[in-house]
Amino acid sequence: MKYQELVDIYSALEATTKRLEKTSIIAEYLKKLDEDTIGKVGLLLRGGVFPAWSSEEIGIGTKLVERAVAEAVGTTQSKVEDAVRDNGDIGLACIELYSKKSQTTFFSQPLTIDFVFKSLQKLSKITGSKSTNRKISILLELLSQASASEAKYLTRTITEELRIGVGDGVVRDGIAQAFNIDKKIVERAQMLTNDFSVVARTALLEGEEGLSKLNLTPGTPVKPMLAQLSPPVAEIIPEMGTAICETKYDGIRLQVHRNGDEINIFTRRLENITHALPEIVDLFNEHLPHEDYIVEGEVIATRDGKPLPFQNILHRVRRKYNVEEAMENVPLKLFLFDVLYYEIPMIDNPLIERRQTLEEIVDTSVDEMNLSTMIIATQDNIPEVEELFETSISAQHEGIMIKDASQPYIPGIRGKKMLKYKAEPETLDMIIVGGTYGIGKRGDFIGSYLVALRDENDDFKTVAYAATGLDDATLEYLTGKMKEIEISTKGREIVVEPKIVLEIAFSEIVESPEYETGYSLRFPVVKNIRKDKGPGDVDTVERLLSMYESR
Ligand code: AMP
Repeated sequence: MKYQELVDIYSALEATTKRLEKTSIIAEYLKKLDEDTIGKVGLLLRGGVFPAWSSEEIGIGTKLVERAVAEAVGTTQSKVEDAVRDNGDIGLACIELYSKKSQTTFFSQPLTIDFVFKSLQKLSKITGSKSTNRKISILLELLSQASASEAKYLTRTITEELRIGVGDGVVRDGIAQAFNIDKKIVERAQMLTNDFSVVARTALLEGEEGLSKLNLTPGTPVKPMLAQLSPPVAEIIPEMGTAICETKYDGIRLQVHRNGDEINIFTRRLENITHALPEIVDLFNEHLPHEDYIVEGEVIATRDGKPLPFQNILHRVRRKYNVEEAMENVPLKLFLFDVLYYEIPMIDNPLIERRQTLEEIVDTSVDEMNLSTMIIATQDNIPEVEELFETSISAQHEGIMIKDASQPYIPGIRGKKMLKYKAEPETLDMIIVGGTYGIGKRGDFIGSYLVALRDENDDFKTVAYAATGLDDATLEYLTGKMKEIEISTKGREIVVEPKIVLEIAFSEIVESPEYETGYSLRFPVVKNIRKDKGPGDVDTVERLLSMYESR
């Protein structure tokens, strides 16, 4: 199959903005292709030569392409650069430059799709010394035989900017139309394989039935299911019916695949980072059965059992050298939360069943290997969800995830079935005006602090009780300080002079007649005692109201 034919299709696709027209152009073309070519075209239509799941890339910089174009048309690199600047695009620059081409290649053969595809794949594999010369020679072989329009799309493909206005959806619809297959089936096949070459070839050879059989393959990463921000817990839990609520860890999401004896670890962008995390590979080898599986979890960095900021884990994952040294400095901890495949695909099973499988297959007897902390929630135990949020935040995690227990795993979707509920990054500085002593063993400590904001007359108006976020030593310290500024105590309630400023984080502002401001905070967490601040620095009620309005 000639590359020129595909180039004519590219031109036709570029010439229309109408989606239906684009779909028909693709469908008509696909029908003419044989099984080998259709796989390649499936990828080339999206401007690449590797499937979406692959982390391989052509990897050629613009400068190198410009140098090859210069040699192919017999001009200088600076002339090519000028043309790219004038046209704003390397492809259009090629049309101009090829029309003035002085060199002609004798005995040149027309480019075929097969040759172009294989040459572009070869480019990604060239590394090491003299790699530039070898890359140039491959580029030249292509560009010196190319027509002007072929050069236009070749250079755009190499620089990974095809600009024909064709996304996944149009290719999907094109395949569906070409072979008379339900769009939903093509969509699902693409979602599970992330590979248009497989989808297009299967559609041609086996039709709808073959496509329906395509599924996850351990070893080939899938796009992770994503989370939306959650509405208030009290609203969403009854809506879901039964929810699985889990601690949200602030680390990196891992998708771990076992395929035979091989373990591979991928990021949420489907990058293979197995080499950077040898101890995680060992953990999976030792604490999960030696069956084929795909599981997901979050990995965090720890020190003395406490989570370290996100940057630490990022450094681990990005590291190419001295991995051993990093392993010692940044110990990792895993929290698994889903299983997509265990001996067979599992994504269509409800989350609650997948979680059960996970519990059966993971041995959590070592400190590093854990399942996410979770509770099953219905409208009857919402306070437990709030408690989970508070304990998660106090343990310096990010918040909680709220997942519909009845739902399948849908790769790549950011839907309403998986939600995140984080402590608002925004904080307000508030002043302590009172508090409540604890009970039992904690009877000597003030465990809950009545905090207030400043109104326009510089009076303090209460807004919440904050009871989370402080360790015992700090509670003791604050209790001591409050006794020094005590105005009165009645039962367990103490009233103090407004002197101590706390920085408070919270998940949302809600209306509440119980407090003097008429508002309150959900999940208030004490972030810091602001010893550097006094009553005049306390945030205003006005600020609270404007935050409430702009939420
Ligand atoms: P965000 O990155 O803020 O969109 O939040 C979603 C991310 O939270 C996921 O992609 C995971 O990386 C991470 N995460 C942490 N803990 C969990 C958990 N228990 N379940 C699902 N995702 C989690």
